[in-house]
Amino acid sequence: MTYWKEILQNSVSKPAALARHFNIDINALEPACASFPMRINSYYLGLIQSVNDPIWKQAVPDPREVNDSICIADPLGEEKLSPVPNLVHKYPDRVLLLIANECAMYCRFCTRKRKVGTAAMQISEKSIENGIDYIRRNPQIREVLISGGDPLLFSDRKLDSLLSRLRSIPSLEVIRIGSRVPCTLPMRVTEELVNVLKKHHPLYINTHFNHPRELTREAAKACAMLADGGIPLGCQTVLLKGVNDNAETLKKLFLGLLRMRVKPYYLFQGDLTRGTNHFRTHTSCGIKIMRQLIGNISGMAIPTFALDGPGGKGKIPLTPEYIVSSGKELSFHNYRGELCTYPENGDPV
Ligand SMILES: *Cc1c(COP(=O)(O)O)cnc(C)c1O
Ligand code: SF4
Repeated sequence: MTYWKEILQNSVSKPAALARHFNIDINALEPACASFPMRINSYYLGLIQSVNDPIWKQAVPDPREVNDSICIADPLGEEKLSPVPNLVHKYPDRVLLLIANECAMYCRFCTRKRKVGTAAMQISEKSIENGIDYIRRNPQIREVLISGGDPLLFSDRKLDSLLSRLRSIPSLEVIRIGSRVPCTLPMRVTEELVNVLKKHHPLYINTHFNHPRELTREAAKACAMLADGGIPLGCQTVLLKGVNDNAETLKKLFLGLLRMRVKPYYLFQGDLTRGTNHFRTHTSCGIKIMRQLIGNISGMAIPTFALDGPGGKGKIPLTPEYIVSSGKELSFHNYRGELCTYPENGDPV
């Protein structure tokens, strides 16, 4: 068996198995585990240093997952925005195609917690084919985002076939893969995988790191191999209470990603997903962090802080307010809080 499959097979999925590594109350974890699957592969498990640390919180079920009375199952209205099952068409020129229901690790804060890793996520060769057909029939679609679950858990052969079928659609310009594999199972990124992916350019990968402790030697190697394959890399980080909700942690994360040739793309405000309410911060937390980062570190390391509008309203950037007043001149604060002005030319448009 290949190395990455062995590591994946070597996953902890039962509280009793976790108790062999840590001193925990098995009974407290059972209800959450029964409601939402746990899978912590041996690589990611090895990143946990202690109970309740930022790695633990992302991977280990929390009793609060089962008594979340505030959030809802499908906060982004994905099911109603699906013209065919497992394809979400929310924006005019791009679609989200869900092709996999498994992940290398089940994140406790997952937006698609309602179905990822469970029987509720019904993906088949047929549903994927119907998705591809939909893209073919709708030439205004310029870009497809392939996600799930994690597409990079597919075999190289299956991925190659899928990407080839997408590439046979002339109107489709860009393929974007969303995958947490570089973070949660970096050994999945093999030379063979890169050779498959780079046949299908322009192909982008948006990965997902949330904490600087995830930036390991192995993760750096996976990103280097993908970048060397000519694949531009972005990162979609989720702002998580108790994990990364401060400027110091995110500064380390974003600068570390930039060194690994990964461009921080989005920092997401937590979605209203049932079972994840304990991770949600007040929106002012993210805005304050953005103010602390913008200007102080490379603009290349700054993502857009965004809220994914409930009900499928789309991603809305949440930006610190710099403008103080406008008129004949614009007055604003700079990143150091100094008041500045800029004389306008002509009238507002
Ligand atoms: C986030 C998302 C996209 C991509 O949005 P970008 O702003 O281009 O990254 C596309 N479709 C759906 C359904 C999404 O949720
Ligand atoms: S890798 Fe992505 S899809 Fe999978 S559990 Fe984590 S957040 Fe959800």
